Amino acid sequence: MTQPRHTDDLPVEYGLLDSGELQRRIADRKRQLGRDLCLLAHHYQNDSVVQFADFVGDSLKLSQQAAATDAKFIVFCGVHFMAESADILSGPGQRVVLPNLRAGCAMADMADPDDVAAALDEVRSAGGGRVVPITYVNSTAAAKALTARAGGACCTSSNVANVFRWALSPEGGAADKIFAIPDQHLGLNTAIALGYCADDGVLYDPAQGRGGLTNEALARAKFILWKGHCHVHQVFTPADVAAARAADPGVFVIVHPECPRAVVAAADAAGSTEQIIAAVAAGKPGSRWAIGTESNLVARLARRHADRKVSLLSHSPALCWQMARIDLPHLLWSLDALATGEPVNVVTVPDDLAREARVALQRMIDIRPAEAASPEQARGTTKITKHTKSTKQKGK
Ligand code: SF4
Repeated sequence: MTQPRHTDDLPVEYGLLDSGELQRRIADRKRQLGRDLCLLAHHYQNDSVVQFADFVGDSLKLSQQAAATDAKFIVFCGVHFMAESADILSGPGQRVVLPNLRAGCAMADMADPDDVAAALDEVRSAGGGRVVPITYVNSTAAAKALTARAGGACCTSSNVANVFRWALSPEGGAADKIFAIPDQHLGLNTAIALGYCADDGVLYDPAQGRGGLTNEALARAKFILWKGHCHVHQVFTPADVAAARAADPGVFVIVHPECPRAVVAAADAAGSTEQIIAAVAAGKPGSRWAIGTESNLVARLARRHADRKVSLLSHSPALCWQMARIDLPHLLWSLDALATGEPVNVVTVPDDLAREARVALQRMIDIRPAEAASPEQARGTTKITKHTKSTKQKGK
């Protein structure tokens, strides 16, 4: 097999094929590649691509599932950081392809690793005790590697509370403060879910010197929140929650913790993509759900649970336009290239970076809820400054 080509230039002929022809050829290539191919699709991918997936899931689970197969080629219909994680966790004989290298993640790109390294130095020099970075898996491999070097760990939106507890426990990260990277909302929502208050956190803006904060503010803060966000989950507003309730007082509002704090506070519950899927699946026939997460997933849930009323929380679509860059023409192009022995758009994380990034991922995987300290232990006090909003069960 020749060396992979790294190009963003989809050959023009793929753009000329109609949808039926694209689907037929992709199905043929899948049959031809057989067990050598493992095709992954993230939950936020659209159905035209999802129909070909061997696994559909969140980014970490998909990477683990693909690594457990003996497929030689992992084609990841997601975004760049997901393909990097798949490569980091894959076996030595496996290669990872991202069908369109332009499919990045705007939030991951908000945390440039050099900026994060400089910010960590600044925050540490401000005093106030040991700082441990906790980096969302929605980040570059370089940011994950840096996290490992600084004694931190990765987190997902499913396990972030346990990872924060680990970081703050004396037996775990022994942190006096957490630097949450790159999603400010996930960081703040998690801190509040653990019993802290909004004043325990400060927003670190990498565009400003010292994050736009004084040394005193940095030293005092328990949570330093990197000023990043996901544009998909920024779509939702507290007015959307109020409108959903006005339209149907019995509706259960559940949102992703990447949504702004005011939205999470107004909702009945917050949970990761997998937790939202599980909550709707556990709902009773006739239950009504207004969901604050990506549109393709919500539409899929509505079709899967036709005996429940499942709607998007907002009237505006919440679409990840980066993920939409993986379309049928790019998928067919990448499969054709694999079948002809000339792979395109292979994502390879350099060995030294992969080794360090794997440490941050493995620390997260190894954290068990039982090892986590309570918020009171972590704070060294029995006083909890603010309780989370209680979760109502009316939709279930
Ligand atoms: S939904 Fe948001 S966090 Fe996820 S890939 Fe798209 S931009 Fe990144």
